[in-house]
Amino acid sequence: MKYHYAESLEDALALAATHPDFLLMCGSTDVAVTLKKQKTVKGIIDINALDELRYIDRSEKEVRIGALTTITEILEDEKIGRFLPLLTAVSQQFASRQIRNLATLGGNIANASPAADLTAVLLVLDASITLGSTEGERTLALKDLFCGYKCTKLDHEIILSITIPLKQHTWYYRKTGVRERLNIAKAGLAVIKSSSGYAVSGTSLTPYAVRFKQVEQLLNTGEFSEESLQEALAQDISPSGSFRSTKAYRMRVAYNMLKEALSKLEA
Ligand SMILES: Cc1cc2nc3c(=O)[nH]c(=O)nc-3n(C[C@H](O)[C@H](O)[C@H](O)COP(=O)(O)OP(=O)(O)OC[C@H]3O[C@@H](n4cnc5c(N)ncnc54)[C@H](O)[C@@H]3O)c2cc1C
Repeated sequence: MKYHYAESLEDALALAATHPDFLLMCGSTDVAVTLKKQKTVKGIIDINALDELRYIDRSEKEVRIGALTTITEILEDEKIGRFLPLLTAVSQQFASRQIRNLATLGGNIANASPAADLTAVLLVLDASITLGSTEGERTLALKDLFCGYKCTKLDHEIILSITIPLKQHTWYYRKTGVRERLNIAKAGLAVIKSSSGYAVSGTSLTPYAVRFKQVEQLLNTGEFSEESLQEALAQDISPSGSFRSTKAYRMRVAYNMLKEALSKLEA
């Protein structure tokens, strides 16, 4: 297997264009697992040196986070704690300190796992992402990036940054797992309520990260019963049974979390 160490963004973009079948690697917390399972990876493009993609900026309207920013950097950032406390809460429950020190926000998104906690939360926050290639840059809504289980529409592109619009909101986040720490979610739910209504997403409840449209629509009518809520959720989620937990468990926990979220956010 070949290994390329990109010295600069320009270098990384050129390598990604000339080696479209190579795997990008940043913190390597997911790539290390991929390499163990998939023996067919032809080469690696290591982008870990691109320090220009490690930053957290805030303007009046938005927060922009460089794709190589680690979960520890998000967790410890004062601006995030103040303006996007939901991101801080998720980062607190993310893996272990060692993993958080390596894992990047861009990697969490690009890996397109249904269990990616930050990705689900960025969806409810209406985040967009900016991608780069030798052709230039493009920005798209995060919700438009995914095309299926572990599938993205990245076209030999590198995620450069993630932009989160700032708006007043209240939030709920919960994740369940076998332990209190170092948990890949059995199920997780992120809900925000703002002047535009409810936004809902979750982890390990759908094949890939999506917004729960039926639930959102129902909640935004302001009139719902236990039955209608359960029906809407059943239309939005399709958890699989896995070694981590059963489908029935995930359905039930998701519903209980949703009720808990509403009791907090409707209060
Ligand atoms: C023990 C353990 C516990 C974990 N716990 C959690 C958890 O609690 N919650 C959670 O959500 N995840 C968890 N993870 C998963 C993992 O840590 C995250 O998904 C992490 O954010 C990935 O970032 P990375 O920099 O390590 O990505 P890498 O492993 O380097 O890359 C992951 C994927 O993203 C691509 N990629 C990386 N950076 C970019 C970029 N800038 N542009 C385009 N593509 C890119 C790579 O090609 C690869 O396909 C855990 C993993 C482990 C091993």
